[in-house]
Amino acid sequence: MTYAWTPPPGTGHSLLPIGHHFDLVQAPLTTGMHLLRDTFCDAMIANPETGHCTWLIPVGHAKRSPWSYARLTRYVQVATSGQALIPHTDRTAGPGPHWVRPAGAQGSPRYLACAITLAGDLAPATLTTCGPLPIRCVCGGPVYRDEATPGTETDGSEYLMHPACAQQATATNTARVGGRRRA
Ligand SMILES: [Zn+2]
Repeated sequence: MTYAWTPPPGTGHSLLPIGHHFDLVQAPLTTGMHLLRDTFCDAMIANPETGHCTWLIPVGHAKRSPWSYARLTRYVQVATSGQALIPHTDRTAGPGPHWVRPAGAQGSPRYLACAITLAGDLAPATLTTCGPLPIRCVCGGPVYRDEATPGTETDGSEYLMHPACAQQATATNTARVGGRRRA
């Protein structure tokens, strides 16, 4: 049942609430086209006018894979509220948002994508089409190398962190490691 939802029939569009039947994942269209070419992803909404593409995922499912989406946040956004213009099932060409599938996709399309598979496919596609992915900071959040500074961890090693996290960790851990050495 999780993946059973389909858009209204026909070639029109409907403005539908996000967070009711689906949440929404938005990425640059170049990243989406890369996915269509290189992976067997679920149906995607292409919007050449805005340069974005969108997948619909079951409500709340992005939270099941928090780091997978957190490390994409510079380029990929998850929306769990608001409204979105959703193409109807037969809207498979422009103008405006329309459904696209990987070349050679067989059978009836699935309009809700698996959030975990999607994040897994989006990581290499984002790396190729947008740029480097961030590393995981000690705080658990994503930090990009171009904004990171080295900080001292609990074991005395240096890692790249958010500047604020580095300042805090270094102040705490340098004192702790130093204390241990003296003991
Ligand atoms: Zn941090």
